[in-house]
Amino acid sequence: MIDVLDKTNVFPHPGSLQENATFAAWALEEWKTKREGKQPIVHILNSPSKHLPGPYSIIGPSSMAMISLPVLSPDAYESIASDLEKLDPAAALLPGTDQTVVVGYAAQLKVLAAGVRSNNTSWLQFPNNGGSGGLIFNMHPLSRGYVNINISSPNSEPVVDYRALTNPIDLRIDVELFRGVRRFFSSKGEIQKLTPVELAPGSSVQSDEDLAAWVETALGPSAFHPVGTAAKAPLEHGGVVGEDLIVHGIKRLSIVDASIFPLLVAATTQSTVYAVAEKVSGCFWSHDLLLFEFESRLLMRIHRHRPPI
Ligand SMILES: Cc1cc2nc3c(=O)[nH]c(=O)nc-3n(C[C@H](O)[C@H](O)[C@H](O)COP(=O)(O)OP(=O)(O)OC[C@H]3O[C@@H](n4cnc5c(N)ncnc54)[C@H](O)[C@@H]3O)c2cc1C
Repeated sequence: MIDVLDKTNVFPHPGSLQENATFAAWALEEWKTKREGKQPIVHILNSPSKHLPGPYSIIGPSSMAMISLPVLSPDAYESIASDLEKLDPAAALLPGTDQTVVVGYAAQLKVLAAGVRSNNTSWLQFPNNGGSGGLIFNMHPLSRGYVNINISSPNSEPVVDYRALTNPIDLRIDVELFRGVRRFFSSKGEIQKLTPVELAPGSSVQSDEDLAAWVETALGPSAFHPVGTAAKAPLEHGGVVGEDLIVHGIKRLSIVDASIFPLLVAATTQSTVYAVAEKVSGCFWSHDLLLFEFESRLLMRIHRHRPPI
């Protein structure tokens, strides 16, 4: 994730709730009067929908560009895909990584190389909210990090290392994502009405090498979407849970959260966690047990009453 841009605010924008008393009063009234009923929780700020519960229901951007590499980077995507196919997967992972994880990662790189060439795989997420600011999200980072127990202090926080940019192709892709966004905001047409200004790295930075050096300093590694620490994949591919989300080798332990995604989706992850949870929502109470079912199979059995200590 990289922040690059300033531009003229349009009205309304998120700051309007603080800056404009009339707008804030209208927004509050919308929220109070329309939040009941079957309205969706999140709306586009300036949507003409009559069901809008208003700006108070909005926490993030009001629009999002999701763009594939062939569209964003027509001259570079093919060479990126073929370099990805030639990459030694073990060399991009932490030395000593279990062989099953290397095999799973090799399978992932194959899928991702196809994604680089596909117009149906969004690689850039570029959110907008009518205000200034422009964040570039790489939706499919190729580098792999880890979460480990701190062995010298097992009860303290785990040790987390995103190992961002350890797969060298990530840096190339980030440069291409940046170039695509720069091209769009410097193009002629309607977008110039927002008087976009490049805040970073600045128009003097042009070469691939200089852009890459800047990305290395500007990158926020997590982009808020860490996944995959308990990946849904076969054991021989380094997976932790199977298709039924039950942990390999353990009969009554299942995992239902973002850690089961083997790869990042080209979408935000909270809604995707909701989708996984909905799939696992065959949940009902018996008189003393909470039973979670998944497609008619028992996933988890929790006793409501703790045994006396
Ligand atoms: C700043 C930020 C912005 C984001 N923006 C968006 C967005 O706009 N849209 C989107 O879709 N996603 C967004 N995400 C991502 C999304 O929030 C996560 O992907 C999602 O919450 C992951 O769900 P989860 O259930 O796997 O984990 P979490 O939501 O992190 O849930 C884990 C839970 O476990 C609890 N817990 C931890 N340790 C213990 C313990 N030892 N015992 C008991 N409980 C424990 C925690 O308190 C927490 O409630 C954002 C994330 C961040 C950090």
